[in-house]
Amino acid sequence: MQSQRQSEENKRRWLGHLEQMYEELYAWREAHPAASFDEIARQVTPRRQAAMGELLAQLASQHGNGVEVEGVVCEVCGRRLEYKGTPRRLVEHLEGEMELKRAYYYCPHCEGGIFPPGSAPEVGEA
Ligand SMILES: [Zn+2]
Repeated sequence: MQSQRQSEENKRRWLGHLEQMYEELYAWREAHPAASFDEIARQVTPRRQAAMGELLAQLASQHGNGVEVEGVVCEVCGRRLEYKGTPRRLVEHLEGEMELKRAYYYCPHCEGGIFPPGSAPEVGEA
């Protein structure tokens, strides 16, 4: 769950991204009157992936980034895990590339770490 203000901010940022994308493509087309359909599509595709990647990242983080209020325990040994911050993870997906910041926990006993799913989906690991 996120605040109404955060939600409005995310929406405004994403729509701003779309508007910028439109203006770039419009300007490119003005400068390339003889461009083929494929050439136009090659301009559109990477921008579409960037825009959809941003939307996907927003939606994936809509219910938080996996930081738990209560202590998280190791599934293997049951000991309490150490919180190690929220590193950025690059996720590649058909819809686009994005960076997600997810909470990371480490078990010193098992010497292994996890990104708890929390209530946010683990994108790209299906
Ligand atoms: Zn453990």
